[in-house]
Amino acid sequence: MYKLIYKEIKKFDTIVIARHVGVDPDAMASQIALRDSIQLSFPEKRVLAVGTGSAKFKYIGNLDKLENIQNALLIVTDTPDKRRVDIASFDGFSSMIKIDHHPFIEKFCDIECIQDTASSACEIIMDLIKNTKLDCNEKIARTLFMGLVADSNRFLFDSCSPRTFSLVSYYLENYSFKLSGIYNTIYKRPLKEVRLEGYISTHMEVTEHGVGYIKITDDIINQYKVDSASAGNMVNNFNFIEEILVWATITEDIKNEIIRVSIRSRGPVINDVAEKFHGGGHALASGAKVESFEVAMELMKALDGRVKEYLKDSIKEEDENGD
Ligand code: AMP
Repeated sequence: MYKLIYKEIKKFDTIVIARHVGVDPDAMASQIALRDSIQLSFPEKRVLAVGTGSAKFKYIGNLDKLENIQNALLIVTDTPDKRRVDIASFDGFSSMIKIDHHPFIEKFCDIECIQDTASSACEIIMDLIKNTKLDCNEKIARTLFMGLVADSNRFLFDSCSPRTFSLVSYYLENYSFKLSGIYNTIYKRPLKEVRLEGYISTHMEVTEHGVGYIKITDDIINQYKVDSASAGNMVNNFNFIEEILVWATITEDIKNEIIRVSIRSRGPVINDVAEKFHGGGHALASGAKVESFEVAMELMKALDGRVKEYLKDSIKEEDENGD
């Protein structure tokens, strides 16, 4: 599969790399690292990384403008379905490749490299570069490491396999990028966000079976002077609360006239519940866009039902094991 991807990359003079809407560090790092690696390997090619940027993730690198696309190759990283690709048009592409670690949703590319057990899209790009003639340097290795660290929440999840650590070890050994500073860059945040975190802890509601959720209205966003995306991303800071197995931020986004729900889980599978609300994602990290707080509350109810089932199954399992 990697050889096939490399052959396709070799064929095209113009290559565009896109990823999903609602950019996150893994999506952005995977496209930027792949762009830089292809450009380093083939300086004569025109290689663009496109999509809506985010001031918050500027440290990962710069994006390019999508212009004059003809007979080009499109590579989509970190995106399972066509509707969520952050690109204005699919015109001008003669071939499309998908490189993704989400559970399969639909085939929309000629070549689909899907590894849904990988920790991150960056992990797959690391493996691709290592196993082909694509070049790498310290900056590219560092970018890939940042995406992997962000999506695995610092190697916290089961998706971190022996391959994950072996790839990290390989890149550290060969490109000797400095770890000091990387965590600072990823995790440093302004005091106003920490204060909002305090608000979330204080006001989080908990359903009967342990779904923790917080409604972050536009008023709250303005009061704390943060942006809607940063507020929603705080969902990642609320793991390991004893009473809560599933938790969500429900954030009003006035500009786009939607409510963005970000959901995380420490056990119950949540992506199929999110899919029922036209969202999706990974088994334990999902999201959805809904039209109102009322619909978001229906989603919380459905999640509560999922936790209830999960707890019932866990008790049954314990009984069967005689614990
Ligand atoms: P987030 O909560 O935005 O960090 O997203 C967590 C995961 O869910 C990521 O894999 C996203 O790609 C996915 N996701 C978020 N929002 C949606 C959506 N509206 N539809 C499908 N997948 C989503």
